[in-house]
Amino acid sequence: MTANLSAEEQRVLDNLRRVEDAVCDACRLAGRSRDEVTLMAVTKTVSPERINVVLDAGVTCIGENRVQEYLSKRDALHLDGVERHLIGHLQTNKVKRIVGEVDMIQSVDSVHVAKAIADASLKTAKGYTDVLVEVNIGGEESKSGVAPDRLPDLLSEIGTFEGIRVRGLMTIPPILHTEAEKRAIFYEMHKLFIDIREKKVDNVIMEVLSMGMSSDFAQAVLEGSTLIRVGSAIFGERQYN
Ligand SMILES: *Cc1c(COP(=O)(O)O)cnc(C)c1O
Repeated sequence: MTANLSAEEQRVLDNLRRVEDAVCDACRLAGRSRDEVTLMAVTKTVSPERINVVLDAGVTCIGENRVQEYLSKRDALHLDGVERHLIGHLQTNKVKRIVGEVDMIQSVDSVHVAKAIADASLKTAKGYTDVLVEVNIGGEESKSGVAPDRLPDLLSEIGTFEGIRVRGLMTIPPILHTEAEKRAIFYEMHKLFIDIREKKVDNVIMEVLSMGMSSDFAQAVLEGSTLIRVGSAIFGERQYN
């Protein structure tokens, strides 16, 4: 019900409508259907009350960065029919706590973490976890993600693990300023995605390309993103305590 929202909650709802309009515009411009792109609300640092505003408004996918934060908020969320993804860097010692609690882990970037997720998943009722492999497309030293030239080897190796299903790729590009730079890096990422798809690695399905955040989701949609991860453009600037 939207009748008794606080001013802050109303602002979140207005932001969501603006983002949704921009996604529709980008899809139209790209000649893509709106349902080819999933809008994920990135909920790190956001209170359950504000997250529920967007869930009640029809957002069907949320992303959290930290295992502990997600687990502490989860019971207060309106999660019926909502996909939950872990998008932050995952340490092996946290794997057991998150497997079985989310629908997808987007931040796999080593054989080590993939193996830990696979082993833990085999012990769950479902028996596997959907994952994306994170690619460091900008080649930045400080960033997590696998280098593009190491991606094929990583995929062939983790494709053999029974407890995971690789469903695509995720990337966090470097901070870019011009439209052209943003599109160029997303173009490169999409090309990598298509190349891998055409190679047909065993047990590796390339159907999800997760790229685009608040400052560049329109460019990502124009270059073939199938899942955009939007936080501050919906919820406002994050307040870290
Ligand atoms: C925080 C975060 C986002 C969202 O960032 P915004 O710029 O606020 O949209 C997307 N992806 C990842 C991996 C993040 O950590």
